[in-house]
Amino acid sequence: MTIGRRTVLRGLALPLAWTVGMGAARAFWRREVDVLVVGAGGAGLAAAVAAAEEGASVLVLEKEEAIGGNTLRASGLFNAADPERQGPMGVEDSVAWHAEQTLESGGGRNDPDVVRRFAEEALPTIHWLEGMGIRFLPETQTT
Ligand SMILES: Cc1cc2nc3c(=O)[nH]c(=O)nc-3n(C[C@H](O)[C@H](O)[C@H](O)COP(=O)(O)OP(=O)(O)OC[C@H]3O[C@@H](n4cnc5c(N)ncnc54)[C@H](O)[C@@H]3O)c2cc1C
Repeated sequence: MTIGRRTVLRGLALPLAWTVGMGAARAFWRREVDVLVVGAGGAGLAAAVAAAEEGASVLVLEKEEAIGGNTLRASGLFNAADPERQGPMGVEDSVAWHAEQTLESGGGRNDPDVVRRFAEEALPTIHWLEGMGIRFLPETQTT
C-alpha cells in the first residue's frame, strides 16, 4: 500500500493553539510536519508508516494514554482473497467475491468504488504488514 505524502492528511500548518478552559493560559505549539495523523489505531498507524515510507515527516496524535484503539481489541482476522493460502485449502475466493460480500454485509449502503478498492488492497496490505514482521495464522474462514 502506498500513500503519497501529499494525499494523506496533508500536514497541517502549525502552530496549533488551544485554550484550556475559560480564561486559562493559551498553549502554543510550533512544529511543522508533512503529515499529521490523528488517532493511533490501525488505520492511523498504517497511514503514518506509509507516509514515513514515502519520506514524509510524520506526527501521530493520540488522545488516550495508550495507542491501539479498537485495533488492539480486534480478534486479528484479516479478510482477503489470497489464492496462495486458500488454494491449498481448497477454498475458492476472489477479490470480486470479497467486494460483493462486503457490499452485501453493508446492506448496499457502502460506496462500491471504495469497497472495490478495499477488496483489491486487502492482500497487498497483508503482504505489506508481513513485510514488517507481522505474522498471521493460516486459518481461513469461508463465510
Ligand atoms: C472486540 C473486537 C474484535 C474485532 N475483531 C476484528 C477482526 O478480527 N478483524 C477485523 O478486521 N476487525 C475487527 N474488529 C474491528 C476493528 O478492530 C476496527 O474496524 C479497527 O480496529 C478500526 O481501526 P481504526 O484505526 O479505524 O480505529 P481504532 O483502532 O479505534 O483507532 C482510533 C484511534 O483514534 C483515537 N482517537 C479518536 N479520536 C481522537 C482525537 N480526537 N484525537 C486523538 N486521537 C483520537 C482513539 O483513541 C483510537 O486510538 C474488531 C473490533 C472489536 C471491538
